[in-house]
Order: sequence, then structure tokens, then C-alpha cells
Amino acid sequence: MNNENLTSEHSLINKAETLAKTLREAEYNLIECLQQIDQKRLYSNAGIKSLYNFCVERLKMDEARSYNFVKATRMAKVYPAINNKLISGKTNLGNISKVATFFDNNPTIKKDERERIIESVENKTSKECTALLLLNGKSESDFLRKTFQEIIRTVSSEHKRLSVTLHDETIKRVDRIKNLSAHRGIFSYEKTIDFMAHVTLKKIDPTNSNSIAIKQRVWKRANGACEKCGSEFGLEIDHVVPLAKGGSNDFSNLRLLCKSCNQAEAIKVFGAEHMSKFLK
Ligand SMILES: [Zn+2]
Repeated sequence: MNNENLTSEHSLINKAETLAKTLREAEYNLIECLQQIDQKRLYSNAGIKSLYNFCVERLKMDEARSYNFVKATRMAKVYPAINNKLISGKTNLGNISKVATFFDNNPTIKKDERERIIESVENKTSKECTALLLLNGKSESDFLRKTFQEIIRTVSSEHKRLSVTLHDETIKRVDRIKNLSAHRGIFSYEKTIDFMAHVTLKKIDPTNSNSIAIKQRVWKRANGACEKCGSEFGLEIDHVVPLAKGGSNDFSNLRLLCKSCNQAEAIKVFGAEHMSKFLK
């Protein structure tokens, strides 16, 4: 590589650094400007309802950037030290915005503790910043829920896209189910969640008379014996008013009967002739 190329590569890097610095200065100046606009509520003179809307509508910034600017503007008003951190590149808008959201969600944190938290996110990546805030958080799940909101979006007439933040341990459990279900053709998280939903509902759905939970309740209420004759042999869950006659799967419509009492009940309701087709 000749000297001329090296010089031009160096000057490109220098140029990028200078531009990044200019960008930070511009951000800093914009925050100062927005502080005054906010203080005097100048945007409402222009018929705009909030500083955020002013950023989006008048300044043509995208929503995420507008949100970050509003958060940083209001934080810098309370903690002026943030301005220097922004201009020196020790911190950035995104992290300040995260810290601001964190403070909003944890109003009981004292001022000196807040200053310590602002210091602690200096020179941190976005990920590191989130991790630090989690450590500081009184309520981790609350912070996560508000910062990374669970989102469900329609992507087609039959499909939606779900965004959730999961604990490492939860992912491990889901992965374990996924691996154990591979022989059922379950290779994706989508299929795994569908499978988990089916298995769980079978167990816990109280409107499902086959659910293990409701069966256990009926068994317990009957003390594990036929509710007609007291037999403990061949017990089955029976519908007092049969489903075919409009009976429900409610706990109150279920009872524990032995096989012969169950058949005798069925004959009473449906008649011996009808039941002879089923009973042998
Ligand atoms: Zn019986």
C-alpha cells in the first residue's frame, strides 16, 4: 500500500470522527434548544400538542429518536451534568432515554442514587446499560415490562407476531420442551409454544372436563368412590346432565361413578334400546 492510500484512509477516519463529534454537538445544541421550547411550551403556539409531536411533525425525526430526545431533554433539565456527558461522548441519547424510563418506573429512587446511576452508565453499550439498570431496579420484571413492552402485531389474517422478553431460565425450559418434542416434528418456537398451549390447557382449563385439575377436584369431592354405590372400582367422571342433553363441563355437572352405575344412569337417560348399541 502506498503512502498516498494510507493518507487518504487516515483522513477518512479523521473525517468520520469529526462528523461524529459534530453530530454529538448538534444533539447537545438541539437538546438545549428543545429545553427552552419545552419550558415555554412554544410547540403549542404552533398548534402541536407535545414536545414529542413537535419532534416528529416539525423536526421530521423518527419516533424512536423523538422519544429519546424528549427523554434526554427533560433529564438534562434535572441533571445538567448530562449535557457534558453527551457532548464528550461519554454517554448517548439512547442510554439517557433508558435511564429516564427507568426513573419514571421507579419513582422512589432518591436523587443521589439517581446521580450514581447516571454516572454508572457512562461508556456503556446499550446492552450493558440495560443490564446495569436491571441490577439497580427494585422490580426487574416491572422495568422489563415497561421498557420492552410485550407487543402483539397482526401480520396476516391468521397470524400475529408476538414480542416478549423472557428470563434465561424460561428460555432454557422452553428449549428443553422443544428438544424433547423434536420427534413430534416440533422444531420451531412457534410449534413449541402451540404444543405447550395444548398440553397446558388440557391440564388446567376448568371448562375442559378432561382437564386433570377438574378431574382431581371431582375425585376429591367424591372421596375416590362411586357417588351412587360407594364402589372404588372402575371409576369414571360422568356428566349429571349429559353433554348430549345440553349439560355443561362445569364442576357442578360432574360426578364420579363406577362403570356399572355410569351405565345404569345412561340407560335411565337414553333408554335401554339406545344404550344396547354401546353396552356389551
Ligand atoms: Zn357405583
